[in-house]
Amino acid sequence: MWKENLCKFLKMALEYIQSTQSKSLDLKYFTLKEFDSPDEPGSGSKMDEKFLEKLDYARGNAGVPFKINSGYRSKHWNDKILKARIGSSHKLGLAADIRCTNSRDRALIIQALLNVGINRIGIAPTFLHADVDKQKEPDVFWLY
Ligand SMILES: [Zn+2]
Repeated sequence: MWKENLCKFLKMALEYIQSTQSKSLDLKYFTLKEFDSPDEPGSGSKMDEKFLEKLDYARGNAGVPFKINSGYRSKHWNDKILKARIGSSHKLGLAADIRCTNSRDRALIIQALLNVGINRIGIAPTFLHADVDKQKEPDVFWLY
């Protein structure tokens, strides 16, 4: 009898643990697919969840669409195809490039990013890079 009860208890404990761990990310404005490395379907799931939550919140505050040009990047895609920086935060799932081609949206997006604590921002004529890579210097803006 005690064995049966122990079994039941363990089963319940396991179910509880699984239910807390499988608590999925609840994004209002994005799907993980938008962050896939083009050569690796499903890889958007390798994005840092806290970063995505911040981005989602910023998108709501900005009130303008955030079209993701580039999210997670496989080593192959970043290094070989894009020939981007080897130390790119995109390979860690800690960065995203947001399409942006006009000055008004650029201001709205940057303000919204800063408000959620995303403070490493690269500015290019057609996109904004945003990352939360703690290995790198905080509070920096740079130009491409
Ligand atoms: Zn980038």
